[in-house]
Amino acid sequence: MTNPSLLILPGDGIGPEVMAEVRKVIDWFGAKRGIAFDVEEDLVGGSAYDEHGVPLTDETMARAQAVDAVLLGAVGGPKYDDLDFSVKPERGLLRLRKEMDLFANLRPAQCFDALADFSSLKKDVVAGLDLMIVRELTSGIYFGEPRGIFEEGNERVGINTQRYTESEIERAVRAAFELAMRRGRRVCSMEKANVMESGILWREVANRVAQDYPEVELTHMYADNGAMQLVRAPKQFDVIVTDNLFGDILSDCAAMLTGSLGMLPSASLGAPMENGRPKALYEPVHGSAPDIAGQGKANPIACILSFAMALRYSFDKGDEAARLEAAVETVLAEGKRTADLLGPEGGTPISTSEMGDAIIGALDASL
Ligand code: NAD
Repeated sequence: MTNPSLLILPGDGIGPEVMAEVRKVIDWFGAKRGIAFDVEEDLVGGSAYDEHGVPLTDETMARAQAVDAVLLGAVGGPKYDDLDFSVKPERGLLRLRKEMDLFANLRPAQCFDALADFSSLKKDVVAGLDLMIVRELTSGIYFGEPRGIFEEGNERVGINTQRYTESEIERAVRAAFELAMRRGRRVCSMEKANVMESGILWREVANRVAQDYPEVELTHMYADNGAMQLVRAPKQFDVIVTDNLFGDILSDCAAMLTGSLGMLPSASLGAPMENGRPKALYEPVHGSAPDIAGQGKANPIACILSFAMALRYSFDKGDEAARLEAAVETVLAEGKRTADLLGPEGGTPISTSEMGDAIIGALDASL
């Protein structure tokens, strides 16, 4: 049997630094757990532009379509700020998402006990938090037509259109139910059915999909109340599913419940491929952090936890994903911190590679 395949796109700035630590983790799973991957590496973003004059070549795009999962670091940096819009580093990432048709964006908000003091909320509100936001990623108001700025009488009018087909809603909601089956079996669907027809349709479709999942409890919440509940009592949620615009805002809000940008993984999933695995791109939420790039200061945990998501959602290795998450938890509980995780009381930070090594040490200890 052939090994599952991974395409690694480290990208720019701290991307290659954090990805080097993920490589250690991937190698560990191969050597110690017999979970080997065929790993290819390629360029994306500014590094691809430097080499090829485009932020993603057709060849790299084809490789991304062919593998079982793509793991990306980060793209962008001040060096590329003045490039034409069509070749900016971010276009490489957008092309991947679009051509792989990654319609479900998964953003977990998980609060490690050792970092509960980092949240802007009270410790007992966030300690033990573990929720997942599923955001529809390829439709809705960011894509709907008509859009633009038009002349109307003697002034201009800016127009964007919220538009959802039933099938677009259904596949996002179904992704949320599938996730809930592997978690706490609760889905909260958020829209504004009180004032938006697209919200009424969203709610109808969610109710319909729910009939296929009798073990999962479905509730509905208006998205504005959802925002309030996320900061009031976030632990009431298991899986939240919502549209592109509300998801953009609510997932950033939920992310901050947990403290540091250097801790946040994400996954974007598409339709199942022939082998049953979903098209998938895993990446940390953070960017290329040019202010700290090349200094060994970057926190690799967001990227490492993105690989844990790949183990769970692409490769059906939930137990091994949990092992990796527990190793991260152990290292944090031991007080090991990269610079971004030092609180106001300070302390001595460890480097990017020391954090990677510490996680490998905790993985060894888990055997
Ligand atoms: P950023 O996420 O790169 O950095 C914001 C702040 O968080 C910085 O102070 C940075 O040092 C810190 N930070 C981020 N990740 C960290 C980590 N792993 N460890 C420690 N500290 C970390 O956002 P930005 O500064 O707004 O953008 C920088 C560049 O990244 C821009 O070119 C932007 O377009 C790009 N960007 C890319 C992505 C992506 O690739 N998905 C996402 C956001 C921004």
